[in-house]
Amino acid sequence: MTSFRRTKIIFTLGPATESEAMLEKLIGGGADIVRLNMAHAKHDWTREVIRRIRAVSQRVGREVAIMMDIKGPEIRTGDLTVPIELKAGEIFDFTVKPHAGVAENAEEIRSVDVNYKDLVNDIRVGDTVLVDNGLLRLEVLAKDAARIRCRVLIPGQLSSRRHINLPGVKVNLPAFTEKDRADTLVGLAEGIDYVALSFVREAKDVEQLREFLGAQKSKARIIAKIEDQTAIANLDEIIRACDALMVARGDLGIECPFEELPVIQRRAVRACLAQARPVIVATHMLESMISQPVPTRAEITDVANAVYELADCVMLSGETTVGKYPLECVEMLDKISRRIEREDDTTGREPAVFTGDRMKILHSAVVLADEIPNSKILTFTRHGFMAFGLAALRPVHSPIFAITPSLELARQLRLPRAVEPIVMPFAGDPDATIENAVHLLQRAGHLSVGDKLIVTTDVVSQDRLVASVQFRTVE
Ligand code: PEP
Repeated sequence: MTSFRRTKIIFTLGPATESEAMLEKLIGGGADIVRLNMAHAKHDWTREVIRRIRAVSQRVGREVAIMMDIKGPEIRTGDLTVPIELKAGEIFDFTVKPHAGVAENAEEIRSVDVNYKDLVNDIRVGDTVLVDNGLLRLEVLAKDAARIRCRVLIPGQLSSRRHINLPGVKVNLPAFTEKDRADTLVGLAEGIDYVALSFVREAKDVEQLREFLGAQKSKARIIAKIEDQTAIANLDEIIRACDALMVARGDLGIECPFEELPVIQRRAVRACLAQARPVIVATHMLESMISQPVPTRAEITDVANAVYELADCVMLSGETTVGKYPLECVEMLDKISRRIEREDDTTGREPAVFTGDRMKILHSAVVLADEIPNSKILTFTRHGFMAFGLAALRPVHSPIFAITPSLELARQLRLPRAVEPIVMPFAGDPDATIENAVHLLQRAGHLSVGDKLIVTTDVVSQDRLVASVQFRTVE
């Protein structure tokens, strides 16, 4: 009988994984969600790979979800004719109006443009400027209308169009840019399942994207990526506004003091559990496997930690875009997750207090499932509430078979923890639908005679909720 991994695996598509042969191995091998990082993707490539993923999914008989990760507001340096070698202690300018307000000794001071006009208003003297993922560090000494003047603290080479982070600065840039809009439209036309919005700073950012998706009549769900200190300050409202949260540790580790990162991760995962929102732990999980066939002990423990914390998903980035061992990385996440899940460690599983009758009924189903060894949960869902709700309650050992007539929803259900989505049309009679589902699961090898099932159903009709939790043994 199939045994299910509860923690879901996301991999980012890139040159190392975009071939049909590789996709077949990764999807067939148990990856759940494919991420397209639009910071590096062209539209033609995007259309082509989405169609390829769908075709491969059909061929291997396993529909995965596609997440389009849009870039959001990003501050970058401008073009340089040749890279600049910045020396420790050197004075260096970032300019927003290259030809205005030239300082007296400008000819002696080197500079580069940035694409963020409000930089001089939003930054304060004493703030830090980090360039190229924190490889270069500068301190702001002074500013005028045209520039900020900095001292180099950590030296290095500055080349064209490098990413800038401004830790602790509330950046005044639109959350959903023109590029994001254009990228999202391509994704929606191809039927993507999730849109991940980068650098979400407040609930309003998510609401703006939700309005856009609504206007496009899209059912894609929204993942809010938290990447800076403003997002941490507004964590609860962001979780409330989104459909899932991503702890984007790459940028978080630059924007926040690094020792805060594990604290933030744990807090974010717990806050998601408390609000019944799925949560993804992302970035550098198996970073050393970009070039080595085995992970470091610390990486193994990091993945294990995310599973212990009860995250819904773990995510690969560089490991599967440009790494030498993408398949081994997915196998490694699979192996570590399965092992840790067997521990049945219940620490961190704080009882969530949910309001609303439907969540309370689902809670009773999960209590029952946890009490009955080797039980399995079966649920029926048209819009996802039952399956996302059950997953959020984190049954300790039972898989959640989520039967839905919607292929779109089945793909989205690749994300929540412990859910195994199955597409099946509903019969007119609810009892017949349950019988059909049990037979389907038996034929697929997911259920055997004697298995204990907790079946949860609900129907909301004319504002009347009729829900049930039943126990049955498979015959
Ligand atoms: C991150 O910063 O961890 C992340 C996932 O975002 P990106 O890869 O888009 O920088």
